[in-house]
Amino acid sequence: MIRPEIPDNEALRLAALHRYEILDTEDEQAYDDLVTIAAGICGTPTAAMTLVDTDRQWVKSRHGLEMTEISREISFCGHTILTPDRVMVVPDTLADARFHDNPLVTAQDGVRFYAGAPLLAPNGHALGALCVVDNRPRELDAFQREAMQALSRQVIHLMELRRTSLELKRQLGERDWYEQQLQLHQQQLEQQNADLTEQTRTDALTGLSNRRALAASLVTALERAVKSGARVSVAMIDVDHFKSINDLQGHAVGDQVLVNLSSLLRSQFGGSGMVARYGGEEFVALLEDCDAEQARMQCEYLREAVAYLPGGVPLTISIGVAECRQGDAPDDAFRRADEALYAAKRAGRDRVIVAP
Ligand code: GH3
Ligand code: MG
Ligand code: MG
Repeated sequence: MIRPEIPDNEALRLAALHRYEILDTEDEQAYDDLVTIAAGICGTPTAAMTLVDTDRQWVKSRHGLEMTEISREISFCGHTILTPDRVMVVPDTLADARFHDNPLVTAQDGVRFYAGAPLLAPNGHALGALCVVDNRPRELDAFQREAMQALSRQVIHLMELRRTSLELKRQLGERDWYEQQLQLHQQQLEQQNADLTEQTRTDALTGLSNRRALAASLVTALERAVKSGARVSVAMIDVDHFKSINDLQGHAVGDQVLVNLSSLLRSQFGGSGMVARYGGEEFVALLEDCDAEQARMQCEYLREAVAYLPGGVPLTISIGVAECRQGDAPDDAFRRADEALYAAKRAGRDRVIVAP
């Protein structure tokens, strides 16, 4: 027995074979059909489609035999792939030095005739063979040889179909993955944007809306009020002599006073409107569904409540109130509330004045 040689291009040949991911897969009707046709055309009891792996011959499809794999050393197809350009025919195995004492030949009812057409990948590598086998010596005529080659090309078409469909599936899977990643990034970006927007609208020390957010709210509140005829008032609130709190007790205490006052403002006005930190120690409350008199009363209550803020720092505030009028520009009510605030300061502080 002569063992099949290993082709020069073996590493590339195996790489080409493994790209099909077909080894050790289930039986498939399409391959079985071609193998049956091969047996029919050649008139042999047995036929197979084999693939020559590193050290085994694996059988993808078989007709008239049971075998799923055998050692490459005793395989016939291992020899067939050595001559990729032609059908290998062994008319009588007992008369062939390569096979006469091969265990497949010497077995009872062993192989006496073999013909194999190499399975050629598009890049020319011989991956295995489509073969027919008989237990008596015989020949293949020219037509049968041609038919074997044609069928072996059909086998390769099937394998190519398999490879491209696997590749497509993988690409679709990858596309799904990329789309998921993209969505994830998109969500993160949106979250970051939302955070940034929040930051640009919020005062860092007190957590209240800042002047920018207030301006936007005022515009929409006024639009709503004009449509519904509801009243809207603005209160400007300024801490009295805040500079001396800083000077006497330090900036940190000053900060804490602003934080405590913000909590009070939020609980006082948060439900019915909006409170914003307008500047250093100056706040604005936007009071919806609230006329000037109601606003004044709420502000008086606030002014009194300031005395009870925690921290033990004596504190008073001055407040200017103005109600929005029909036809007001957004800044008009602010301006009037600001004038009322200065009037309150001039009048001795710790008081609420409503703009005329
Ligand atoms: P008035 O009664 O006339 O309002 O006197 P005032 O001292 O409150 O007003 P003034 O405008 O003279 O001083 C405001 C002070 O507020 C000056 C500034 O250093 C202080 N200030 C502004 N922002 C902050 C802050 O975030 N933290 C602290 N601790 N102080 C601040
Ligand atoms: Mg002040
Ligand atoms: Mg001020």
